Amino acid sequence: MRNYFCSSPAVLAAAVAVALAGAGNAHANGRPDLVRAALAHGNPHVAGELIVQFREGITASEHGRALARASGERAETLVKGRNRIDLGGDVELVRTRGFATTQEAIDALSADPSVEFVEPNWVVNHQAVSNDTHYLNGNLWGMYGDNSSPANAFGSRAAEAWARTPDCSNVVVGVIDEGYMYTHPDLAANAFKNPGEIEGNGIDDDGNGYVDDIQGWDFDGNNNTVFDGVGDDHGTHVSGTIGAVGGNGVGVAGICWSVKLLNAKFLGSQGGTTANAIKAVDYFTDLKLRHGLNLVATNNSWGGGGFSQALGDAITRAEQANILFVAAAGNSATDNDVTASYPSNYPNANVIAVASMTSTGTMSSFSQWGATTVDLGAPGSAIYSTVPVRSKGKTVASYASFSGTSMATPHVTGSAAYYAARHPGSSAAQIKAGILNATIPTPALAGKVVTGGRLNIEGF
Ligand code: CA
Repeated sequence: MRNYFCSSPAVLAAAVAVALAGAGNAHANGRPDLVRAALAHGNPHVAGELIVQFREGITASEHGRALARASGERAETLVKGRNRIDLGGDVELVRTRGFATTQEAIDALSADPSVEFVEPNWVVNHQAVSNDTHYLNGNLWGMYGDNSSPANAFGSRAAEAWARTPDCSNVVVGVIDEGYMYTHPDLAANAFKNPGEIEGNGIDDDGNGYVDDIQGWDFDGNNNTVFDGVGDDHGTHVSGTIGAVGGNGVGVAGICWSVKLLNAKFLGSQGGTTANAIKAVDYFTDLKLRHGLNLVATNNSWGGGGFSQALGDAITRAEQANILFVAAAGNSATDNDVTASYPSNYPNANVIAVASMTSTGTMSSFSQWGATTVDLGAPGSAIYSTVPVRSKGKTVASYASFSGTSMATPHVTGSAAYYAARHPGSSAAQIKAGILNATIPTPALAGKVVTGGRLNIEGF
């Protein structure tokens, strides 16, 4: 996996600064200091592409003059200003030519008065570290509790919460990841369909800009096919931890047995981009507002690149729509208080940042932490869940064990859905407080995460 930042003094200072920045700073001038530091560090981004926040109310000629400063052209509009979820100017993906470095292109465009801020289009990746076949034994320790059978005191205690399981079927969760195998026998019953869309009629029935987005949308391939094969194993795995069908005598059980899943695929074989992450986050915010969905959280088991004000603003729009943004702390075994990791370090109140735990109560060796920037620990090492595999020339449903903060994160996202089902009408802030207040103090997490504790669903 990628390391995003090293511990250079400049980045250190920048990381501290962002930790102190408040939420709700949409359409400020971005954080050119963080962008500069991350570019200087060589963080991966798409060459020749920039994300540009234009000022509200500029004229077409002002827009054109700004782009001309960078020999730029609009590739697409990522956020349409003054729409249902945004009140600023447009955010555009811009292609530029003729610059030796991305920083030079940013400097040229930033100098224009029609521009609020300019950022690279960062490249991000999922946060799983391995596919360890030695664990292919049905071991679901992350779901166990101290009094379940089988038992593991360091599990999420979901098994004990199931004893009083509320029906999760009226709660929707968004998976921002790869695609997912919605036909998997352990997922199909929980594969939600966009209620505003008529399948296969070639029309954008609900007017959200996406034609026949039934199970969600593929922002990587720019089509409505969210499942494209075994490359979507990571997205299928996190989906199973959130909401694989429980009690059906097949395979695994997720945290919330009947929660409904929707998918915004933006990670492809080469990872994903900030531009597509922004569209994915806004997709769910818009879908919730457009259809009145009880969509309480998105799962974000990915990270990398660097700071993006435009993505932070999208997370703010989700916050305003009462959607939690549950994010992986990262797999580079570093302190996120010292070297910021995105998206888990965005300071928004709706972000829950998740570290990874092992089945013996230690923090996973790969897990990042942060006494002020990571909220809690959850099971993430050797997690068994749903995947697609190739067998005899076909893509078939199967199960596998993965490890990563990617696997810890969906335990928390599923918990958010469980909390919402158990306490209907809870706000995002109430769900977050409920999750954090129920944590069990854990020596390995003391001084490492905000709560000093691990996920405890039984405590909801
Ligand atoms: Ca649509």
